[in-house]
Amino acid sequence: MAERAVHQVRRAGDALVLPGHASAHSHAFQRAIRGRSHTRRDGASFWSWRAQMYRVASELDPDDAYALARFAYAELAACGVTAVGEFHYVHHDPSGTPYADRTILADATIRAARDAGLRITLLRVLYARAGAGRPAEDAQRRFVDPDVEVALGDVDALVGRWRDDPCVRVGLAPHSVRAVPAPWLEAARDFAAARALPLHAHVAEQPREIHECLAEHGRRPVELLDELGLLGERFVAVHATHLRAHEARALGGSFVCVCRSTERDLGDGAPDVSALRDAGARLCVGVDGYASSDPFEELRALELDERTRTGARQVVADGAELLQMGLAGYEAIGLTADGDEITLDPADLALVGAPDAEGPLLDDVVAFGASARAVRQVRVAGELVVDGGVPRGLDAARTAYESALRRWA
Ligand SMILES: [Zn+2]
Repeated sequence: MAERAVHQVRRAGDALVLPGHASAHSHAFQRAIRGRSHTRRDGASFWSWRAQMYRVASELDPDDAYALARFAYAELAACGVTAVGEFHYVHHDPSGTPYADRTILADATIRAARDAGLRITLLRVLYARAGAGRPAEDAQRRFVDPDVEVALGDVDALVGRWRDDPCVRVGLAPHSVRAVPAPWLEAARDFAAARALPLHAHVAEQPREIHECLAEHGRRPVELLDELGLLGERFVAVHATHLRAHEARALGGSFVCVCRSTERDLGDGAPDVSALRDAGARLCVGVDGYASSDPFEELRALELDERTRTGARQVVADGAELLQMGLAGYEAIGLTADGDEITLDPADLALVGAPDAEGPLLDDVVAFGASARAVRQVRVAGELVVDGGVPRGLDAARTAYESALRRWA
């Protein structure tokens, strides 16, 4: 069943106040290739984009990881995002050797989010191989572990280390059915269930992933995940782009995180959001590869791209339901939005003419008409982290980011 529509936007004096947006899928370091990976000059396929992304991933050190994430998160906060699910897969040094402090890159990323004032769920990625029968290559050496127990040990270390910060959670994420074998999926399922952790995976983003899964398992990705028992209320399928009808139905009890700005940029295709909604999948959104950081754009793209795909209007959600999907992202990453609040400037040109009364019309005006430009203040757990449209610590964050970026320019 669809999310229950409740109205979302409050009036506080003149200002418009929203309860928060979660971005349930993020790779913060990919902010570094925004504008550098989109056109024929940079190659023209998903796989040429991946080569660009791997170039950055293969050179990051812990200070870079902090600097890139610190700025990416400052921008997210300024755009009205208060919680992020970070799908974290660069773990080891450039030769593939674990750091003496095994979770140094994950910890740097969590610190970046907390210094920016955001809530974060660090989804520690499990990665075993380039594909079935193919060992990790080049940059992937930084992603892989020799066995799943070692990787799960890092999840426990992170859980222990961040236990006392209520704005931090840890989860785990088998990268995809391409990158891990079935026994790793089963181990992830049991580990997440035993500790009640969020369990995320990239699912059916590219046709090649489906072909490889069929060749290895004789099953499509969602069929495999279903058969192995990974699907359910803790599971978040990221993308879910290329599904057959029975696969959309199988995701009915799970979350689906759609990342339209990234999926458009990469030419992934468009998911059948209507089928997922009808199946009862809980829809949420993610900024993913940072082609955009605007949560308003990500949310309304769920509806607008479905209109493009189907040739019909009002196919998935009205404004209130879209804003509700921004909140569903908190549950997808195991966090709550208590004390989170976004204040929009009623004088923002896109909001001129908004109705005075709270209700479905005001929600539609904000969900379909507003952009991140209107965000004036952001509070996370009651704490002011963006004021006057400026995220806290912006100048230092920008300087460190630009200095890291110069190395790849
Ligand atoms: Zn991703």
